[in-house]
Parts: sequence; structure tokens; C-alpha cells
Amino acid sequence: MKTTVYWTEDFPRPADLPISPLPETVDVAVIGSGYTGLHAALALRKAGASVVVIEQRTIGWGASSRNGGMALTGLKEEMPAVCKRYGEELGRAFWEWSLESIDHVERTIAEEGIDCAFERTGHILLAFKPSHFARFGEEVRWFHDVLGYDELAVVSRSELHNEIGAQGYYGGLLDTRSAGLHPARYVFGLAQAVARHGALLVEHTSLKALSRTRLGFRLVTSGGELNAREVLLATNGYTPDVVKPLRDGIFPVGSYIIVTEPLPADLQRELSPRRRMFFDSKHFLNYFRLTPDGRMLFGGRHDLSTSLDLVESAQKMQARMVEVFPQLASVPVTHSWSGNLGVAFDLMPHAGRVQGVHYALGYAGHGVAIASLLGKEMGEVLAGRRTSTLFAQINHPRSPITPYDRLYLPLVSAYFRLLDQVS
Ligand SMILES: Cc1cc2nc3c(=O)[nH]c(=O)nc-3n(C[C@H](O)[C@H](O)[C@H](O)COP(=O)(O)OP(=O)(O)OC[C@H]3O[C@@H](n4cnc5c(N)ncnc54)[C@H](O)[C@@H]3O)c2cc1C
Repeated sequence: MKTTVYWTEDFPRPADLPISPLPETVDVAVIGSGYTGLHAALALRKAGASVVVIEQRTIGWGASSRNGGMALTGLKEEMPAVCKRYGEELGRAFWEWSLESIDHVERTIAEEGIDCAFERTGHILLAFKPSHFARFGEEVRWFHDVLGYDELAVVSRSELHNEIGAQGYYGGLLDTRSAGLHPARYVFGLAQAVARHGALLVEHTSLKALSRTRLGFRLVTSGGELNAREVLLATNGYTPDVVKPLRDGIFPVGSYIIVTEPLPADLQRELSPRRRMFFDSKHFLNYFRLTPDGRMLFGGRHDLSTSLDLVESAQKMQARMVEVFPQLASVPVTHSWSGNLGVAFDLMPHAGRVQGVHYALGYAGHGVAIASLLGKEMGEVLAGRRTSTLFAQINHPRSPITPYDRLYLPLVSAYFRLLDQVS
């Protein structure tokens, strides 16, 4: 078994991706080369701004090349909680925006010719307990009444075999609008599009500090200094301490994935006849799907830390996978890897401007589509083509204790494990 990312082995960073030296001056410096940064750069180039995307590792290295590839409706925070907190009008706007974010991914890959196996497979939330299933019917009605959304359907336990060849679930909640894609093909395709549109891509260069100047910012990086009129921090779960109030509003959480060898076609049909995206109803949820080449991808969190041993992680994840799919007991696991989610205390994405620096982050493991549209919108804000985004309207909770996540995350983790037992 390899402890490297399967997606980037299957589709490595293109050797012909044009990488530039650090320029001296640009209109906008985008820090981070995932979906957020690349969509922002694309929007900025379409508006005629000069742009550099600066990445501390290689282009697309972060969560955007190592995720589950599920482009899901909604936000990480459940919609009833969103509506309760912000009111139904803003809640409805967030929901509509989330649907638009998947359309935006679909449009971008069509316009830029990105071949990333995008497919509207739909997703299913699987009930881990009978009490979770009991809530699904009510949820379908709530989505109809409050959000005017009619694409949810309850799948009873007796019908579940039409959707999944798994043990131990009490039913499902199907949403047909969600999609699956190949994350590495998507992020590298975006990078090629961004370069084609004339943005500069800089690798192995880390932002270390920045200061205000008369015309904008002076950025100090590991590869030299540059001037930029504006800066966008698109670093999500890898956000550095460079802009302190931003680090105070986001903490990293580790998410871990394994994939198996490619499965025989009849076993693929048995496990996932419609190739849906799946996740379950626990706090410490598992998410899984077939990859385009027919492997089982199985992911989740062990506790919330980012530095677990990947061999140990694979053993635990495989044991959980075999509980769900006993058919996979003797199928070898080929890859085990992890990546950082960026989580805010309110589980909401956030965007705006702090100390003059623009930012967009906080997708909490639900960012394939959201980061894509929020990145584009922040690019448009920076280009003066829109005044704001929906996510800039809400309060972004921050605390000086946030960077000390190693101290408080074990407690949070224990709390959620307890909740999974009792609720
Ligand atoms: C294992 C895993 C599974 C996931 N599965 C799903 C899923 O199935 N569906 C879903 O919707 N979401 C999923 N997510 C979340 C999703 O991948 C992210 O929300 C999304 O990719 C965030 O994109 P981004 O561009 O904001 O950040 P990233 O892609 O993480 O990019 C940030 C980049 O910033 C760079 N950076 C940081 N600091 C600096 C610096 N000082 N200087 C220069 N560069 C810097 C990093 O190296 C990194 O490449 C998953 C995430 C993980 C980790």
C-alpha cells in the first residue's frame, strides 16, 4: 500500500503546466492554488487584471487534489440550522447559491474543456440509526415548504438495495442534483485554463509576511518579494499565521481516505449500481464512492487531528469499510492519504476583507463546488465587477485560541464521539 494520493498518481500534475518565476509587480496576488485561488484567478483574468497564483508546494497540492470528489448540494452546516441562525430569506439564498455552485463547476469544465469525469450521480445520506431515518421524511417536507426544493426523496430500508450493496443502514435520503468528479483532473484542468487565460503560476514559494504600501501591499515570500495592488488569501485548511485575524477564524481538521484496487464490474454494480456519492448520518461520518476506474474510495475522520500515521489510518478505515461492505474483506487497499479541511467555529464558509487582505475559506469538507463559486465571486469582487458575496454578510467568529487547535481538538473530538453514541 502506498501512502500517497491516488488521484494524483492516476492523473499527475501536467508536465507542460507553465510555471513562472515570481514577478515584481501584479494587480492581484492570489495565495493558494486550489479551487478557490484558481477560480479567482480565472475571473480576474477575464476582467483584464494581471494575476499571480503563489503556491507553497506544487499547483493544486492542497485539499483540491486529494478530496473525495463529491460536488454536493447545500453547505456543511445543515440547512434548517442555517435558516434558524440567519433567517429563512438568507437561508434560501445560501441554498440557491449552493445549487448554483454545482452548475458553475459544470459550466466551467464545459467552457474550459476540462475532462474530469463530472457526472450528476446524485448523493445519498445514509441513516446510521433508526432515529436518524425517522427524521428524513420530515426533512423532505421541510425542504419543499421552506426552500421550495423537490429533488429529495426518502429511500426506505427495503428499497436501499437498489442504491447500495451495504450492511447496517436504516434507509437513505437521496438528492439527485449532486455530482461526482475526479479532483486532480479538475484542479489541474483549472490550472491549465488559468495559465491559458494569462495568469502566472508560481510554485515552491511560500508567503511569509506582508505589509501595506501606498499603492497596495509588499509581499515577502520564500522566493523573494513582490508588490501587489490587492491580495487574496485562498489557503483554507492550510491558512498560515500571516494575517493573524484570519488564522483566528479557521482551524485545520484532518480527513483521511483509502482506495482499493479496481473492482470487477459485477462487484461495482453490486456495491453501487448508480455510482452515487454516499455519506452517513454520524458526526464522525464516513463518505464513500466508486472512482471513475471502479475502485472503492472510503474516507472519514478518526479524531480531528491532521497528523495521524497513514498506515494505521488505513487499517482503521479498512475495518470500517469492511463493516459497511463485507464483500471487500479480501480486496487490497492500494493508497492511504490525508488532507486538511478548513473549519470555522460556525461551520460556515466565510469571505471578505481583513486588514485590507481579501479571503475566502471555511468549507469544512464541503468545498468542491462552494470553493469554486466563492473563488470566482471573490475574483469578481477584486476586479470591481461585484460589490460583495453572500458569505461576507455573516459574522465570522474568531478567537485568539484558534491557532492552539492541538489543545482543544481532542476535547471537541471526544464530545462528537459521545454525541454519535447517544444521538
Ligand atoms: C481528504 C479530503 C476529502 C474531501 N472531500 C470532499 C468532498 O468529497 N466534497 C467536498 O465538497 N469537499 C471535500 N473536501 C474539501 C475540499 O477539498 C476543499 O474544501 C477545497 O478543495 C478547498 O479548496 P481551496 O482552494 O480553498 O484550498 P486548498 O485546495 O486546500 O488549497 C490551499 C493551498 O494553499 C497553499 N498555501 C497555504 N499556505 C500558503 C502560503 N503561506 N504560501 C503559499 N501557498 C500556501 C497550500 O499549499 C494549498 O495548496 C475534502 C477535503 C479533504 C482534505
